[in-house]
Amino acid sequence: MALLDVKQLTKRFGGLVANKDISLSVAAGEIVAVIGPNGAGKSTLFNGLVGAHQPTSGTVSFDGKPLAGKTPEQVATLGLVRSYQIPRNFGDMTVLENAMVGALLRHSRLNEARDAAEQVLKLVGLQDRADVRARELNVAGQKRVELARALATQPKMLLLDEVAGGLNPSEAIALADILRDIHAAGVTLIIVEHVLEVVMRLAHRVLVLNFGQTIAEGPPQEIVRHPAVIEAYLGR
Ligand code: ADP
Ligand code: MG
Repeated sequence: MALLDVKQLTKRFGGLVANKDISLSVAAGEIVAVIGPNGAGKSTLFNGLVGAHQPTSGTVSFDGKPLAGKTPEQVATLGLVRSYQIPRNFGDMTVLENAMVGALLRHSRLNEARDAAEQVLKLVGLQDRADVRARELNVAGQKRVELARALATQPKMLLLDEVAGGLNPSEAIALADILRDIHAAGVTLIIVEHVLEVVMRLAHRVLVLNFGQTIAEGPPQEIVRHPAVIEAYLGR
């Protein structure tokens, strides 16, 4: 049985169709990448999956449960969590406190949330920055804090929106290694990613969106040669 099952998901904003009839099935243990030009509907798809908005039509089920009508917090409790393209960190809080915000979904006691958050900081390589205020980190650090807060909710599946965006090539590769560790720890991943190097290193399967629709799907080596993908990116 698929962990995530999306059937014909459509989302309209007035006259604009941001997602059109998207179907996607992701098994536990997969790493799926979603790529596509700006405005293709990638972030809208993530929002629809986690209950940040209700789809115009179509269905999403996670771990066998339909998600219709559920809030992002209810969806997160089921184990499906997204991170944001622009980190939504609490800048005045420390790195550890940011991770604790995520950990509090599963732990009502602060000392337990702190222990869980410390584990997550190790996984994302921020253990030495635990007491630094989040806003004092560079872009790469802030992206890791965003990742840590999502991971601290103990998701079964993480949806990562351009987590390598704005990083230099060596930072992006370091981040890909962290994502591989997170995956090895048992978390299924869907990544929206522009950094092709990260996609090629990690993804088992790639979904390509353009103008809200799926235009191609397949293994990364095939996708980069797919005529529709080349056309979408190069406009030929
Ligand atoms: P991507 O993440 O692939 O760059 P988005 O999902 O953010 O694309 O946006 C897809 C389309 O939907 C864009 O045309 C965008 O302007 C539009 N859009 C996204 N969110 C909203 C919203 N809340 N209200 C109106 N239009 C939106
Ligand atoms: Mg986006």
